Amino acid sequence: MVKRTNNMNVCYPWLKSVYYQIIKQYQYGYNHNALLIKVMPGIGENVLIWNISCWLMCQKPKYFENCGNCYSCQLMCANTHPDWHSLKIEKSKPLDIEKVRNLIEKINTYPIQLGIKIVYLPNIGYWSEAAVCTLLKTIEDSPTNTYFFLTHTEQRFSSLILQSRCIKIYIPPPNEKESHDWLTTRIPQKNQELIIIALRLTGGSPLLALSLLNDKKYWQTRKILFDTMYNALQKDILLLLPILNNEQILQRINVIISLLLDAIKYHYKATKNFVNSDQINIINLITKHFSANCLLESASLWMKTYHRLIQVPTVNRELLIVDQLLTWERILHNNLIE
Ligand SMILES: [Zn+2]
Repeated sequence: MVKRTNNMNVCYPWLKSVYYQIIKQYQYGYNHNALLIKVMPGIGENVLIWNISCWLMCQKPKYFENCGNCYSCQLMCANTHPDWHSLKIEKSKPLDIEKVRNLIEKINTYPIQLGIKIVYLPNIGYWSEAAVCTLLKTIEDSPTNTYFFLTHTEQRFSSLILQSRCIKIYIPPPNEKESHDWLTTRIPQKNQELIIIALRLTGGSPLLALSLLNDKKYWQTRKILFDTMYNALQKDILLLLPILNNEQILQRINVIISLLLDAIKYHYKATKNFVNSDQINIINLITKHFSANCLLESASLWMKTYHRLIQVPTVNRELLIVDQLLTWERILHNNLIE
């Protein structure tokens, strides 16, 4: 959700340098009308774009900040600025092309009321080709003083024509220390090791890590999953069935894959990069009995099941898990280090 604020100081620390770079471009008069921003999920790009919008809309900006007092600033603060437009995408649903048409009609029909018009289009990677084409024409023919901010997180986003019409910006995730320091200020009572684990589990995203750290149920389930796995690997692999046969199966498979990858790292003495550094007992158990190749094959098998669950949502989940577990057991059994 976009944070409604006029104060640049609330911008996340890892986004400030990008904010300054973009604002400088506008200050120097490089007013390209479309920015295509690639980010990983959970970086807070919506806050960045909101802050840039506040600066662009402001009638009396001071250096890098909007004044907070002018009529435009007041409208932005109240989220009622008539020249600021956005289109929300629900990732679980296909994009309704009508919504795109309505927005474009609004952009083309309504004149600019207070100087400039801004259009924020998040998650453009989820748009269909037809929707992107419609947007392309709008960007090419857009009236003066209209700015488009497009974001995408998808590697597969491949509209070369759209890319060629935009200034492309990539925002990398902050480094682990910066994210760790920020998280420590947000939740000072949290165990330091747990903060690093959460960051690594979320691919280095501080906002996703924060959400994970606040999710007590996630950590409880993770513990039960690892305890069950410890027993299942020694007794009966099907002990994992009840905990996996759940709506949260994708998240749980991710946990298993991350542990298998840690065990592979152990074989290659890359223990500094462990994700699950609090699970040394089970990593020791796995590495004692299974080679790196066997673990790689196991991780690959789990990844295939993960993708199958995404691609075929109607699949019989229980049967798929049983099949997965029995296949995995065969791989483990055939590669057991005596
Ligand atoms: Zn202002």
